[in-house]
Amino acid sequence: MDHDKLNPATIAAQAAGATEAATGGVVPGISLATTYLRGQDNALLRPDNTYGRDQNDTVRQAEEVVRALEGAAASLLFPSGMAAVAAVFRALPSGARVVMQTGIYWGTLKWVRDYCVRRAIILDEIDAADAQALARACRDSADMVWIETPSNPWLKTVDIAAAAGMAHKAGAVLVVDGTAATPVLTRALDLGADLVMHSATKALNGHSDVLAGVLSCREPSLPMWAEIATDRHDAGAVIGPFEAWLLMRGMRTLPLRMERMCANAQRVAEWLDAHPGVEAVLYPGLPGHPGHEVAARQMRGGYGYLLSFLVEGDRARALDVVGRLRLWHRATSLGGVESLVEHRHSIEPHTGIPETLVRLSVGIEDAGDLIGDLEGALG
Ligand code: PLP
Repeated sequence: MDHDKLNPATIAAQAAGATEAATGGVVPGISLATTYLRGQDNALLRPDNTYGRDQNDTVRQAEEVVRALEGAAASLLFPSGMAAVAAVFRALPSGARVVMQTGIYWGTLKWVRDYCVRRAIILDEIDAADAQALARACRDSADMVWIETPSNPWLKTVDIAAAAGMAHKAGAVLVVDGTAATPVLTRALDLGADLVMHSATKALNGHSDVLAGVLSCREPSLPMWAEIATDRHDAGAVIGPFEAWLLMRGMRTLPLRMERMCANAQRVAEWLDAHPGVEAVLYPGLPGHPGHEVAARQMRGGYGYLLSFLVEGDRARALDVVGRLRLWHRATSLGGVESLVEHRHSIEPHTGIPETLVRLSVGIEDAGDLIGDLEGALG
């Protein structure tokens, strides 16, 4: 069966065809071996399995699900989203020039800034949601353009197809962090991106119980892809088979979860938008959002599970609202079935996040219950 021709719900539910030939199990087992047998002739029983650092059937099965969902040529799993980010940057030569969207996940920027200094990589941070700013940054030649859309926690939307055009003109590869969209809503490679990255810790797994990251490529002949694959094999940033298996289990319901999470997020965003105690709502699903048109073009089936809002008042009022919530869990991270809330300024006080910004990751609970809890907290 060619899974690439199937729709996301089918690819995901059937884990891209992963079953267990040895037992006839509908669900594949977990391959835990760290090393593999050779026969009396010294030949490997399976030529593609020598040693477990980078060769594991369970990991390959989970990668195949992402690859098929993404419409990619190849996908590689990593032990966290940050390990996937680092794998891309480690493939750059010293002295490279990177154009990077600013105001994205702060952990990415924090690590990248430090790494670029150590490797003498020129880092140009720009607001990539501003097409003119991106065009200006791409006038000079570059090695890589990195965008995150929608961005965390500002929910800025970048036109991937336009960014790909600008990046390629500058001689750069375009990498998209699509964590907040998932391949169900946006297939960045179809829009011209060269690589797409996800923190699979978030909605791909969806149950707040696995750390994982994934990279996928459009063209396996991309020199950077070979560097990334070699680096993973040699330097050993590999995910364990148990995590890969859990991820595969989680992804079976990804399209279903995204449907509900997007519908819930849209309702929550619209409700907040109409509330007098809310100064602004940042969600691309709202017609007044500056990135709505772009999002409507490049996201299908919804605008994602992530949104932020500014509470009318000050820091104390925002913390008070967050503290009054009884249903939403106060915790960092996003993309799980359970809804999370976070006062972002407490986490990243030096990045320009307003003290009244509250970030929500909307889960699959009943939207009425979620809104009822917000109503109780906002008054
Ligand atoms: N990219 C985005 C957009 C994120 O939100 C995160 C984590 O919050 C990461 C990357 C890093 O992923 P991980 O926490 O799995 O290392």
